[in-house]
Amino acid sequence: MPEGDTIYRAARALQRAIGGKVVTGFETGLAKLARVNDDRPLVGRVVEKVESRGKWCLIYFSGDLILVTHMLMSGSWHLYRVGERWRMGRDKMRVVIRTADWEAVGFNIPVAEFHTERSLARNSQVPKLGPDILSDEFTVEGGVAGLAAYGRENPDAEIAVVLLNQQVMAGLGNVYKSEVAFAAGVNPFRAMRTITAREMELMVDFAQRYMRANVADGVGEGIATYSGNRRTTRAMDREERLWVYGRQGEECRQCGARVMMRKQGVQARSTYWCPECQPWMGDGPAPVGRSVVVRARRFER
Ligand SMILES: [Zn+2]
Repeated sequence: MPEGDTIYRAARALQRAIGGKVVTGFETGLAKLARVNDDRPLVGRVVEKVESRGKWCLIYFSGDLILVTHMLMSGSWHLYRVGERWRMGRDKMRVVIRTADWEAVGFNIPVAEFHTERSLARNSQVPKLGPDILSDEFTVEGGVAGLAAYGRENPDAEIAVVLLNQQVMAGLGNVYKSEVAFAAGVNPFRAMRTITAREMELMVDFAQRYMRANVADGVGEGIATYSGNRRTTRAMDREERLWVYGRQGEECRQCGARVMMRKQGVQARSTYWCPECQPWMGDGPAPVGRSVVVRARRFER
């Protein structure tokens, strides 16, 4: 699953390349999109803006037409100079948006549909997202208010699961979930009712910092491929900077205790934490995870 910051960067790259440009060509292998294009041709419209909402990418065309995509596990957007050879087979192409200079090609995109502003507002498939951590309007106070409100409704929900809930705050993925909880010293399995306002504030603040720093890392990369794989975090220097994620069985960078890993929530996502730096608070015994030294890569991306 691409992290929200990956989608954000993809949207930003698309915005830079084709934002404000006139569409000179449109192709699609998806019948539903082709029908809309027959009735309301894309060619001649201006790409007004490209934005990310959590893990969704929205491309706005003039004349109230919005292409909404979700990459799930498989999809990716590539940008090519017109005439440049694609790095994926044509059979995997789902959407091409061409301008005078660029081709934005969506490969293997499983979820793609056209909307108007109105149908998008009504649509239930595109979730009503919480505030996007990377948007300019996002504030720590607003993020804390959202977390607190969710906690009142769901007092037994585990904090790390809530951090991943895109309806509470949009953008945080599985890596930063663990990192943010560590940075705030919060055990990821604690119930919402045990989380203090100060802890929420710390977590939201770290979430915003980490996401922004990650986006800033992409500056200078220019136009690149943003795929469903989180290839950016595979960089060695990046690995060095992670506190706990992927470090099961290794020593905590802060206290030397063994970092633990345990699958969490209905989606059974891997959660990493330090049992010393992130003490357990709540009913019952502290959750225990694996702490055997293993190659984390074999477990989960
Ligand atoms: Zn520690």
